[in-house]
Amino acid sequence: MSKFERRIYNFCAGPAMLPTPVMEKAASEFLNYRGSGMSIMEDSHRGKLFEEVLDRSLSLLKELLSVPENYEIMFLSGGASLHFSALPLNLLKDGESADFAVTGIWAKKAMEEALRFNPVKKIYDGEDHKYTESPELNDSMVNPGAAYVYITSNNTLLGTRYANIPNITKAPLIADMTSEILSRKIDISKFGVIFAGAQKNIGPSGLSVLIIRKDLLRRSGRTVPILMDYALTAKNKSMYNTPPTYSIYMAKLVFEWLKDLGGVEKIEKINEEKAKILYDYLDTTSFYNAPVKPNSRSVMNVVFTLHDKNLESKFLAGAEEKGLHGLEGHRLVGGLRASIYNSMPKEGVIALVEYMKEFEKKV
Ligand SMILES: *Cc1c(COP(=O)(O)O)cnc(C)c1O
Repeated sequence: MSKFERRIYNFCAGPAMLPTPVMEKAASEFLNYRGSGMSIMEDSHRGKLFEEVLDRSLSLLKELLSVPENYEIMFLSGGASLHFSALPLNLLKDGESADFAVTGIWAKKAMEEALRFNPVKKIYDGEDHKYTESPELNDSMVNPGAAYVYITSNNTLLGTRYANIPNITKAPLIADMTSEILSRKIDISKFGVIFAGAQKNIGPSGLSVLIIRKDLLRRSGRTVPILMDYALTAKNKSMYNTPPTYSIYMAKLVFEWLKDLGGVEKIEKINEEKAKILYDYLDTTSFYNAPVKPNSRSVMNVVFTLHDKNLESKFLAGAEEKGLHGLEGHRLVGGLRASIYNSMPKEGVIALVEYMKEFEKKV
């Protein structure tokens, strides 16, 4: 038995916690999915049961994000990072260049991977400012001939996001939305491609979702490795080979949970309330410090430090005692980080702030 009677609050950046009702539903169907006498995990991916799960999953995602008809939605395995390689191969013609706004380490990785296949240009590099902001971008920054402009919409490691999605019209805008998809209302028609690894706001790791404007599906005309070929994946309804069936099932449960809750509009309000509780407290104390520029503050990943860095391990140990897990910052940057994705209840954030206040008083 765990020492916790209830589930802990998991603030880990990913894989992240999933909604308890979703986990309960999955548990209730685990051995016997809808009277079939087997788990959905054990069903053939071509079976009728799984086919329904896949269709429902895709249609719920389409509905939740209001995806227009001229976009294709698909599931791929390989995580978010798969698209760091797949995007240049599917979208860039030989020798063509793409623009990157390097607001953090994920954007940097995506750019370095694209560079293995094509030339790239930076339109912003936040390295000198330790990635503490996601600046406004506009068409005047886009290089002539850029086939697309790539952004990380929410920078998971350092806790920044674009307060407003950049209004880029000179080239298709491509966004890695791994750490914020489904957390705020987004106008899909502003993008050429959106992709996300599932393990932050959707479900188990390894799965990714891709939303792509149909005219971009075959843009490069290149030979693309078959499992990265967006057009082929679309044509085969995300089932060229066996897809990660159980992960797609879990994603369906998360989408259903979100829809029942009131959809993206509703969760956006809740997310803003949650983040405000934390940032408001951080702004009133000099015991903790929030390094991100206020207008770039992420609503999903709240990064902070202790004024006295030597207290970090004590802070983390005390938090674990209280069932507040996963608060250490990314290994590359240190400090502390509370990832408060869709599944983190407001109560979890309140409990964290209470602990932070208590810790401040105690030491
Ligand atoms: C977590 C994360 C990734 C990496 O996802 P993988 O599924 O491990 O490839 C990429 N981009 C962002 C913004 C992330 O938060």
